[in-house]
Amino acid sequence: MRTILHLDLDTFYVSVERLIDTSLQSKPLLVGGTSDRGVVAACSYETRAYGVHSGMSMKIAKELCPEAVVIKGNAGTYSKYSDVVTEIIKEKVPVFEKSSIDEFYADLSGMDKFFGAYQYATELRQKVITETGLPISFGLSVNKVVSKVATNEAKPNNQLKIDFGTEKPFLAPLSIKKIPMVGDKTYHTLRNLGVRYVKTVQEMPADVMKGVLGVNGLTIWKRANGIDNTPVIGFSERKSISTERTFDRDTIDIYKLKNILIAMTENLAFQLRRGDKLTACIAVKVRYSDFNTYSKQLKIPYTSADHILIPKILELFEKLYQKRLLVRLIGIRFSHLVSGNYQINLFEDNEKQLNLYQALDDIRIRYGDRSVIRAAAMGASTIGRMHNPFNGQPPVVLAHRKQ
Ligand SMILES: [Mg+2]
Repeated sequence: MRTILHLDLDTFYVSVERLIDTSLQSKPLLVGGTSDRGVVAACSYETRAYGVHSGMSMKIAKELCPEAVVIKGNAGTYSKYSDVVTEIIKEKVPVFEKSSIDEFYADLSGMDKFFGAYQYATELRQKVITETGLPISFGLSVNKVVSKVATNEAKPNNQLKIDFGTEKPFLAPLSIKKIPMVGDKTYHTLRNLGVRYVKTVQEMPADVMKGVLGVNGLTIWKRANGIDNTPVIGFSERKSISTERTFDRDTIDIYKLKNILIAMTENLAFQLRRGDKLTACIAVKVRYSDFNTYSKQLKIPYTSADHILIPKILELFEKLYQKRLLVRLIGIRFSHLVSGNYQINLFEDNEKQLNLYQALDDIRIRYGDRSVIRAAAMGASTIGRMHNPFNGQPPVVLAHRKQ
């Protein structure tokens, strides 16, 4: 029997803004892109009564809740506060999973009794609240899924323990929408079948769910029944994806080197987005013909957007490459990975840009990860050994995953 804790900061961006400017306390608040084409990244509980939700266009949100204060978010500030909370948790729980910028799982199975774990979790939550001033909620149960649902039921700023054996009755009266993985599309499919509450899924044979929704249906059925064996995956800042390239002949062609870096960044950023990951630390490595190797890294706000990553990678390279020597190898690495989608950059972006990323990534998923590339990166494909997107050759640049 396991004891799994799920912690989630409440309306994280909103809470951080209120911490910085206390006059925003209890005022309806919208955080996101402030232009008419902007998108709501986060909204306070006060605005939700008006039908506002995150992901909605800012224009509509402002119409629904005209008295709301609108703030352009700042990924850098949120990343900083996220790190502070991570440090507090890291101190108290050696093995924890940072599943997003504001969510954590911890396996407390080693604790003597269930009460011991609950006490421990309560103290941890209080510590976060006291030291950061940010509201946080938790759920504690036998597995990740039930704990996450429990956290959502506990919110705002509260905690909930689901005793072993009571998972099914706890889930039964909830809307099926509350089961993680049931998105809008699945919700509508299930609603059309007359399924509204978790209880109905619990009473259905697993095969029926599988028949309707495939493998996902089976997972949803298990979750609805409080069954989930997924482990807590330890968070490590060393977890990274990287790529590098050794040249057949050493080069000093800076134009070519930069184009390759752009191509590499574009490719790795796509890998991040495909895996719903964000990076908070980037590094560039250069090996010269004398085999001396240098690297430089930079902590950045969580992101997976090319237009943010590319200039930073090039900037790092400029700082690193001062020797004007022949280069044998260059590489880049993204680390400090956490789950999260590229909408984290909603504040700088607008809907148009988000849709562009979505469209480009859809093409890459369907036709290969180098089927759409920046013009600059395409230069790399003709100068070096980079994959030519039009001849069907496999890409040379491949991400290496390190756990
Ligand atoms: Mg949260």
